[in-house]
Amino acid sequence: MKFYPEIEIDIEKAAEFLELPPSRLEDLIEKRSLKRNWDEYYNIYRFEGHAPHLEDGTVLIDHHGSFELVRGFPKIKRAMLLEPSIKNSFSKINSVVVEEKMNGYNVRVIEYNGKLIAFTRSGHVCPYSTEWIQNLLEMDFFKENPELILYGEMVGPDNPYVQKYVYDIASLEFFVFDIRYKNTGEALPVYKKKEIAEEYGFRQVRLFGEFNINEAAEKVKGIIKELGKKGREGVVIKDPEMVLQPVKYTASESNCADLRQAFKFYNEAGRDYLFSRVIREGFQSYEWNESEEEFQQRCLRLGESILLPMKKTIAQVETGERISDDFQIRVRDRNVVYKFKSYLERLGLYVVFETPEKIGDEYVVSIKKMNKSTNDKTLAMLEGQLWS
Ligand code: ATP
Ligand code: MG
Repeated sequence: MKFYPEIEIDIEKAAEFLELPPSRLEDLIEKRSLKRNWDEYYNIYRFEGHAPHLEDGTVLIDHHGSFELVRGFPKIKRAMLLEPSIKNSFSKINSVVVEEKMNGYNVRVIEYNGKLIAFTRSGHVCPYSTEWIQNLLEMDFFKENPELILYGEMVGPDNPYVQKYVYDIASLEFFVFDIRYKNTGEALPVYKKKEIAEEYGFRQVRLFGEFNINEAAEKVKGIIKELGKKGREGVVIKDPEMVLQPVKYTASESNCADLRQAFKFYNEAGRDYLFSRVIREGFQSYEWNESEEEFQQRCLRLGESILLPMKKTIAQVETGERISDDFQIRVRDRNVVYKFKSYLERLGLYVVFETPEKIGDEYVVSIKKMNKSTNDKTLAMLEGQLWS
């Protein structure tokens, strides 16, 4: 058996635990699909890329030869047309539960060596989220249910990944949306999850109700229109038993807000990201059979969300100013600032941190994520270079 300097796990034992042939695990290590964390999280690994039968971002914890899996959050597929998608995805059941889809970032929480830690979607231990989680949540749930994992959304303005001001949250909050078992990733039924979250005093995503399959599309349409007006994102439609896969659906205003943010940094944004949001508008507009006036409003909203931010970016670069993604974080322990900076740098981001400002017993730090590609491209165009 080969020796991998970075990976110190017992390959035989780990392969047995993962129900893989040892050669397959070696292969994954060879291809760098199994990555090791750093510092105090040295015994935590994550699967990146194509790990077999495991969700992206799945985490493998090595407790000195015995193992534990924190499965990645499964991809939620999107409905383009509510009516046929609901009927098709949930044909085996009579009713579905509709929850609010909150717009923040996905975090998984477990206890590790006596402390709570927070994983982001990719399976990294995020120092910023971890500090917040340690301050927001009590340990009792984790002590009493060591086999369970909390999955939730970190929402609010002091957010390094997705800043949203529409939730009436002063800084940052954690909203539970799933509780799942370690190793298998099996989810608790919706009402069981809700009951447990209530029992331990966790904040949860809103549950709008349970609807018969035949009325669900119409109900969701009403809910989405209201959410859209408030700038909120959308819904996740779930099998109450959590056996069938959930389905997501979002408001036009939220799709357009994504576009507005993305077109500001038009050369950084992924083409699929932009394209899929435009397509959503086409299907929603078709299904909702809207009036001419509503349709015109949609056209304006969509068009503006694409053009306004681009025009602003070009104008800003023209003045000699560079565009950047600006946000702030709020921490209690000053060291978290430095840990978080080095964390972002390890992930390959170019970030500029201002000096932490002490406000009460917290530190607020302004951060700029520089968008070099859009800056350079815009400058080049302004200097008369050709697109390609
Ligand atoms: P994916 O479909 O792979 O999750 P994505 O990262 O683009 O893709 P979104 O389109 O934001 O994700 O939708 C899924 C995410 O929605 C989840 O990862 C989760 O963080 C978030 N979410 C918010 N509210 C809920 C909820 N009530 N139930 C489930 N997920 C929710
Ligand atoms: Mg999201």
